[in-house]
Amino acid sequence: MSQSEFVPGVLAPANINKAANWLMFLNDKPVIVGGQVKNPIPYFENPSRMGLTIDNRFYLGLFRGEACYAASLDPLAGLPAEFTVCDMKLMLAQLPEAWFQLVGLAQQILTWDRNHQYCGACGSHTHFHAADRAKVCPDCGLQNYPRLSPCIITLVTNKDKVLLGRSPRFIPDLYSTLAGYIEPGETVEQAVHREVKEEVGVELAKLEYVKSQPWPFPHSLMLGFIAEYQQGEIRVDEDELEDAQWWHIDKLPLIPPQGTISRVLIDFYIERYKARV
Ligand SMILES: [Zn+2]
Repeated sequence: MSQSEFVPGVLAPANINKAANWLMFLNDKPVIVGGQVKNPIPYFENPSRMGLTIDNRFYLGLFRGEACYAASLDPLAGLPAEFTVCDMKLMLAQLPEAWFQLVGLAQQILTWDRNHQYCGACGSHTHFHAADRAKVCPDCGLQNYPRLSPCIITLVTNKDKVLLGRSPRFIPDLYSTLAGYIEPGETVEQAVHREVKEEVGVELAKLEYVKSQPWPFPHSLMLGFIAEYQQGEIRVDEDELEDAQWWHIDKLPLIPPQGTISRVLIDFYIERYKARV
């Protein structure tokens, strides 16, 4: 999403166009206009006139000049026939990236709201901050902002081979890049070296930052790297992975779908490697 496409906001401007993009969720699943996964975000003026019962809503900002709202729907009220719920990971593979970012933002704001009803220090009921996206404790003043958990994701490379691993949670035959959370007190670069060493036992030479991706499952931010292999035999950490192997770039296993940062890293490296040899 380019900077000019989305202007975040907390309070809707007074003179706003009334029709808006509604990023709605029912039982944590995105609600789309029936079946239209490619252009699915409901756009209308008034949810109740569409037969929708909204529990909670947040103004998110302007996307391409149009207002956007995150909303959770009353699970007991049901959905009118023209709407349907959809799997968020399916959306990731099919929606344009900018739209998926909005869905992810909406999901994270709703989850943050639900999980920060009470102050973590004194237990009082929290209030919304008057101007910021924050919750404030009226008794002890503690402020809570939406939580982000930074992660690194790394494609380890050795000329025409790339190192991909398999988590037991993956669908059958899928291999992917290596990923993990950044620990408190650690730099991003230290996290890349540590995670790769822990998960597969190899050491890295040069790191190259490529791209980031918000990953709203539930509140990660992925920082994507390509790393050059330096030394070490693959030694799989069996608590994390069930297998990891070097794969020739022309004979890859099943890899993550388009839209994922893992796939971006793999495609980017292979295209550039082939252009250079
Ligand atoms: Zn408090």
